[in-house]
Amino acid sequence: MEECIFCKIINKEIPKEFRFESDTLVAFDDISPSADVHILIVPRVHIEKMLDLNKNHSNLLVQIFEVVNRLVQENNLSGDSYRLVVNGGRAQHVPHLHFHLLGGQWKKMV
Ligand code: 5GP
Ligand code: ZN
Repeated sequence: MEECIFCKIINKEIPKEFRFESDTLVAFDDISPSADVHILIVPRVHIEKMLDLNKNHSNLLVQIFEVVNRLVQENNLSGDSYRLVVNGGRAQHVPHLHFHLLGGQWKKMV
């Protein structure tokens, strides 16, 4: 996807420090954080939206939750507050599937 901002980040056309990186997923800080911790977990493959997921993505989905678990621990959020958010429809602004991990104090809605 040539014009997809997250594909550009994944392909390192746009420099961005990754908090996690595997052959299937990356995680990086949101450019405009809505909470103390605001990390985006993004599959490398360009899936447009949550509604495009099917059982062929079951391994990928388990991997996403494993990364979320790891990031929750690394950021000491398990005894604090955290949420996992997927936006859809008009609430989704970047058309490349991503999960928002939000933790600590909230500043605004995602
Ligand atoms: P959505 O509304 O699609 O669920 O969320 C998109 C998120 O991506 C927003 O929280 C926005 O701040 C973030 N975002 C948009 N462009 C960039 C970017 O170039 N870099 C990073 N790190 N985050 C971005
Ligand atoms: Zn993309």
